[in-house]
Amino acid sequence: MRRVSILGATGSIGQNTIDLIARAPGDYRVEALTGARNLTQLAHDARRLNARLAVTSEPDGYAALKDLLAGTGIAVAAGPQAVAEAAARPADWVMSAIVGAAGLVPGMAVLKRGGTLALANKETLVTAGPLVMATARETGATILPVDSEHSAIFQALTGEDVTGVERVIITASGGAFRDWPLGRLAGATLAEASQHPNWAMGQRITIDSASMFNKGLELIETKEFFGISPDRIEVIIHPESLIHAMVGFADGALMAHVGPPDMRHAIGYALHWPERRPLPVARLDLAQIGQLTFRAPEDARYPALALARRVMDEGGLSGAAFNAAKERALDGFIAGQIGFLDMARVVEQVLDKMSSSDGLQNATLTLDNILQTDRLARIRATEAIEQKS
Ligand code: NAD
Ligand code: MG
Repeated sequence: MRRVSILGATGSIGQNTIDLIARAPGDYRVEALTGARNLTQLAHDARRLNARLAVTSEPDGYAALKDLLAGTGIAVAAGPQAVAEAAARPADWVMSAIVGAAGLVPGMAVLKRGGTLALANKETLVTAGPLVMATARETGATILPVDSEHSAIFQALTGEDVTGVERVIITASGGAFRDWPLGRLAGATLAEASQHPNWAMGQRITIDSASMFNKGLELIETKEFFGISPDRIEVIIHPESLIHAMVGFADGALMAHVGPPDMRHAIGYALHWPERRPLPVARLDLAQIGQLTFRAPEDARYPALALARRVMDEGGLSGAAFNAAKERALDGFIAGQIGFLDMARVVEQVLDKMSSSDGLQNATLTLDNILQTDRLARIRATEAIEQKS
């Protein structure tokens, strides 16, 4: 039996992971499940999967979670430190499906013990890519990408030499506003930004898809994980979301990964890697689909892409600043403090301010200075939001 843990079990990726594991209960022993505020869901899944440990990242949630699991023998813990400890427990496979920079420390805990980390939390690579990859090299840990584009690239690279890669193309649906007149974007509401044309995901990544901050994070994720230089990484709008990424080789061949927009494919691939096993995802009827279309992303609609390219050029701590400013700006948009287009403006202001005064580019990456940069960028973003609201 394989021992598995799921960090961020109550979210969209977490629930899809549980769906796969629950289909083969005899194959897995669930070590730890973690969540944040949705204690009912966490307790329900911990009981159903007979987990050894259930952890909420909310320190105040301990008593309520303990009550919900009374009499089950399932251990309970609470607080961010307890989440990292859950990640550090021995397990054969750990899914990191926490949203945001909060996923970094738990993910690093898996890597430090040389474990296998299925990585949905793209913020881990955006904030700390070089440190994350170096840690995995030192300890012999394995990182399996779960973001659909990165799983697609990973699969296209199987048996290939990454030095022969000429280009990587990651696709984007274009998000909720891909066909809106540009003039309407400033007034886009939270409800409008929370609709994804093709994928069902958590609210934050759905809004990040409308703004393309999600694709910006994925550009950086591609650079850091595969070590591909930024000028070889392209983004293309592909409204059908059926091709997830393409890898172009020195001979001109382009290998595309094609499948329905169902995260259980990428999760299942990481769960069974290096094998392929049957997965409960729909098979495509290409004749019915008829055509796949592509178009270039417009710079004016998606300023997040240029900001991400700037971060890839600057390197160092700028990924941590970029991500934290984006998270804070997103909180501001969700809370109604700033408009949709203000998110990119806030992030740009934070990068301008911090790169001139805080030497983001030349710093060596440590967990401490990444976390410090994250905190400072949130303060700078809050200041920028207050100027706007
Ligand atoms: P979600 O919001 O649905 O779930 C997030 C999970 O993290 C929940 O279990 C929540 O309780 C937990 N969490 C939230 N704040 C936390 C904190 N401070 N500390 C510890 N745990 C916390 O998010 P999601 O859509 O499942 O996305 C999870 C991650 O996977 C994100 O990094 C996202 O970018 C990435 N991702 C998601 C999808 C998708 O289809 N949803 C696709 C690709 C990548
Ligand atoms: Mg993705």
